[in-house]
Amino acid sequence: MSGTLFTKIINREIPADIVYEDDLSLAFKDINPQAPIHLLIIPKKPIATTNDMEEGDRELIGHLFLVASRLAAEMGFAEQGYRAVMNCNEHGGQTVYHIHLHLLAGKAMGWPPYTDKLKQA
Ligand code: 5GP
Repeated sequence: MSGTLFTKIINREIPADIVYEDDLSLAFKDINPQAPIHLLIIPKKPIATTNDMEEGDRELIGHLFLVASRLAAEMGFAEQGYRAVMNCNEHGGQTVYHIHLHLLAGKAMGWPPYTDKLKQA
């Protein structure tokens, strides 16, 4: 089956620093971290963008957030806090078309999150 590089990570065809796995999901360290802790939590089911989620994916998407909150507790940053976000398509900054929850932690993050790139668009 063809797929994005995240499918290859799920299938162990390319390496990743995997921190969690279950039947539905996989979590691994982002190769280009934007915070001291930057994990990607992905469904094993390949869904290209958040626009492509279906009713039947309701439980799966909720599961990704539950995994994020459990990892935050286990890794010790739940109390200090974190950001969990999904980017969609070009203006959202999506580059890999297999939905993924970014879990960022370890520093205080600013808000709003956008950069000049989006302001100019
Ligand atoms: P997006 O921009 O689509 O929201 O996020 C894609 C993320 O995947 C980026 O943060 C990027 O650093 C990460 N990424 C891209 N290629 C790889 C890879 O081969 N391995 C890992 N672990 N992360 C990757």
